[in-house]
Amino acid sequence: MHISQRTLHIPTSPIRKLAPIANRVEKTKKIYHLNIGQPDIPTPDSFFEGVASYHPKVVAYGKSQGNEKLLQGIRNYYAGWGMEYDLDDIFVTNGGSEAVSFAVMTTCDPGDNILMFEPFYANYKSFTGAYNVEINGVPTSPDTGYHLPDEATVEKYINDRTRAILICNPGNPTGVIYTRAEMDMLSRIVRKYDLTLIADEVYREFVYDGVYTSFGQLRELDDYLVLIDSVSKRYSACGARSGCVITRNKALQQELLKCCQARLSCPNIEQLGAAALYTTPKSYWEDVKKEYTKRRDTIKACLSRMPGVISSDPKGAFYVMVKMPIDDTEKFAKWLLEDFDIDGETVMITPGNGFYASDVKRGQDEARLAYVLNTEDLKKAMRILEEGLKKYPGRK
Ligand SMILES: *Cc1c(COP(=O)(O)O)cnc(C)c1O
Repeated sequence: MHISQRTLHIPTSPIRKLAPIANRVEKTKKIYHLNIGQPDIPTPDSFFEGVASYHPKVVAYGKSQGNEKLLQGIRNYYAGWGMEYDLDDIFVTNGGSEAVSFAVMTTCDPGDNILMFEPFYANYKSFTGAYNVEINGVPTSPDTGYHLPDEATVEKYINDRTRAILICNPGNPTGVIYTRAEMDMLSRIVRKYDLTLIADEVYREFVYDGVYTSFGQLRELDDYLVLIDSVSKRYSACGARSGCVITRNKALQQELLKCCQARLSCPNIEQLGAAALYTTPKSYWEDVKKEYTKRRDTIKACLSRMPGVISSDPKGAFYVMVKMPIDDTEKFAKWLLEDFDIDGETVMITPGNGFYASDVKRGQDEARLAYVLNTEDLKKAMRILEEGLKKYPGRK
């Protein structure tokens, strides 16, 4: 059988690569999972009530664009942020993942490229690779908290096949929140070069310091912006597979609708669950944010005590990117699983190289840690990491 070069070129997810080892080790050791962004916060009950309300005579196809109730729910949620969208601007997708795929598919042709700031969400490689679209990686540095380079530097990466800038804010894997000045810079650039700005804001509600501005609030971007959204992280409902893609650009709306029609519809049951989630009162996030702020403060404090470790200063999402004094994080991560433990317990981390595209060596001494554990477990996990770093034979 012929297997396409297109999929052969898509790298295995850095998270999945270590999974077989972890599965084997888990039989004899307890593993603290800092490697996955799967929140442990209970899903609001409204989800299950929404799901239970589904009992039609025939389980028919839903509308391609999305269930009306869910579209209304999304619109109301955005109105709460001061962003007034028409229902025509919103397309329900199978998670934020399909939203990114649709955005890439509708804005880029094979051989085109999308600017992304490294380190970026590793799955973007799959969403672009599937359409033969290249990632044009712009490096950022742990020393500057993974903030953006200046305007002239960013512009140097743009070439005649650049069609879009894809940015995740708050950022996965760094937890960075871009400043208003950085957002204005990107806004100027996309308008100057007539690019699309694809803004992945699935972590919009996870902001621990300062104010957050959505790219949707920059009205000069109306014709250039594609917003990516999802209930997965926001309502701790990753398995609901419900997201959306939003744009005010009328021409793009036509094409997004074709993508939705090609896959007929999203699942009815999950859409009703998601619609109910969108009625969750704002107070829900106050408790969630309090909990994540505690976790963020805990992991930051622990990391700052580890000699030779540089970490991003996470202000949002629930990840921190760390640079460690070691030869190779992939080896270190394997070693932590297979050859190290404290009282039968160890940690699993995600190697950093999967979050880069410009150079295979980049990220080799970095890792992403997800602080999705309660603070007690987090402290234990950090102690294991700290001791592991001291004993690891590949330490520099
Ligand atoms: C989790 C995640 C998504 C999408 O997740 P879905 O479950 O498909 O909604 C998109 N972007 C980023 C940065 C993520 O971390």
